[in-house]
Amino acid sequence: MAIGAEIIETVWIPPYEGRGVKVSKGQRLCIIDVEGKQVGDFVCFNRENPGEHVSPVHMRSSLSSIRLKEGDFLYSNLRRPLMRLVKDTVGKHDFFFPACDYYRYKVDFGREDHPNCHDNLEKALREFGIKPRPLPDPINWFMNNVLDENGDYVIEEPLSKPGDYVMLEALEDVVAAVSACSQDIAPVNGYRVTPLKLQVLEGR
Ligand SMILES: [Zn+2]
Repeated sequence: MAIGAEIIETVWIPPYEGRGVKVSKGQRLCIIDVEGKQVGDFVCFNRENPGEHVSPVHMRSSLSSIRLKEGDFLYSNLRRPLMRLVKDTVGKHDFFFPACDYYRYKVDFGREDHPNCHDNLEKALREFGIKPRPLPDPINWFMNNVLDENGDYVIEEPLSKPGDYVMLEALEDVVAAVSACSQDIAPVNGYRVTPLKLQVLEGR
């Protein structure tokens, strides 16, 4: 990947786990799909005011769109942009679905012991002293839900190939957390959960 900027920090996210990272104003965060077809559930908080976080419902309103595009701002629950999508090598993501959680696996699949993104994100955020109640809805990078003209959808495998990534520029000092989505029962991750990599890059 030719990013060409100084890497400040690299964080590996093992399959079925989550990790957090600080990104300061002007720095950029790359979320890299190392092996391809791996969704990353993402939440992001203002470090100065953890009550402010990226909010998909406000994004859909402020962007007047249900599709994320390069240049789009990641708006908060206070309707301010916290980050901006500056580069995207895939072009297909989701910001409708909740993180998978205990109840998703229990109610829909009869599994009570399955790892889940909700708990992964909460755990990753605790290390930064952030304990949101409830956890905000995520942006699900690389998740591929296909809508038809009736508004019905089918979840298909991600379009991302090994090494694909999104790059976000921080517009405030933030903490971001990402979970390598643990869904291995539905096609969300191509039935195979793999790692993600985070890179924090110096500003331009
Ligand atoms: Zn998940």
